Amino acid sequence: MTVTVKTFARLSEAASALSNERGAQFLGGGTLVMRAVNEADPSVATIIRSTDPDLVHIAVSSGRIELGAGVTMAAILAERELAFLHPVARAVGGPAVREAATVGGNLFAPTPYGDFAAALLALDATVSLAGGFSQRELPLEELLARRERGNSLVSSVAFKRPPADAFRFTKVTRVHPKGIAVLSIAAQLPAASGRVTGARIAYGAMGKTPLRAKAAERALEGRTLDAAGIAPALAVAADGTAPVDDAIASAWWRREILPVHLRRLLLGAAHL
Ligand SMILES: Cc1cc2nc3c(=O)[nH]c(=O)nc-3n(C[C@H](O)[C@H](O)[C@H](O)COP(=O)(O)OP(=O)(O)OC[C@H]3O[C@@H](n4cnc5c(N)ncnc54)[C@H](O)[C@@H]3O)c2cc1C
Repeated sequence: MTVTVKTFARLSEAASALSNERGAQFLGGGTLVMRAVNEADPSVATIIRSTDPDLVHIAVSSGRIELGAGVTMAAILAERELAFLHPVARAVGGPAVREAATVGGNLFAPTPYGDFAAALLALDATVSLAGGFSQRELPLEELLARRERGNSLVSSVAFKRPPADAFRFTKVTRVHPKGIAVLSIAAQLPAASGRVTGARIAYGAMGKTPLRAKAAERALEGRTLDAAGIAPALAVAADGTAPVDDAIASAWWRREILPVHLRRLLLGAAHL
């Protein structure tokens, strides 16, 4: 099987090629695409890549953070301003994977992958899509809902910097320190006068894509982060999830342990 590789200087050109060619896949870091090529996956006929510097930019200001889709987990780990995201980037594979694995690729990685995408969902990220003539911005949640349906080229993701200490992340895995997720949980827990206001919680590996825990978010509104305050959220922790059985864990097990790990995360004891 022959695979054609096409390289474009501009993201807009790459986006046009991606939407016009059947069997074309965009190449991020290639940790999954190249595995498919090496396994002679016939669905990959053309690889589209871009050398556009926009793809690897990191813009950090006090209020807003923007990451090019080609930014790698290793690049995030090298950026001190992104320290709150280091536990997430460090949770993606081993060192060799992190050198190549990109933010954009993580948004399309099949479950149980997608740890970084779950974190971005909790951060209420938007994604910019490159088009032949223009850029389009949409909520990450919308992209995840429609990601099976077409060849969108993500150029960047953006989100507001969370308040200090409001962002939490945990990953449950069988193989430490770099195993694939049984599940992951990311949460942004802003508080006013000691009570949660506007929580956003996202799960990885609890559905076909990373997803929001909307019932748990609602149940946390106005509550304190103590055992009594979080009890209603734990009772509905698995609402709206649809985990799958795979080699890492059964769907049943994922649902069983979810409230245990959500409890630890909300009480600030996820590392214990
Ligand atoms: C050994 C191993 C361990 C892993 N461990 C983890 C883990 O612990 N956690 C985890 O979340 N993932 C893990 N992964 C999966 C994967 O490495 C990561 O999800 C990574 O972030 C994917 O990024 P990539 O740039 O390598 O994607 P690629 O392989 O380049 O692409 C993956 C998919 O995303 C698409 N894509 C890439 N970039 C874009 C873009 N900008 N716009 C549109 N589509 C795009 C590609 O076309 C392809 O369909 C692991 C993979 C391996 C091989």
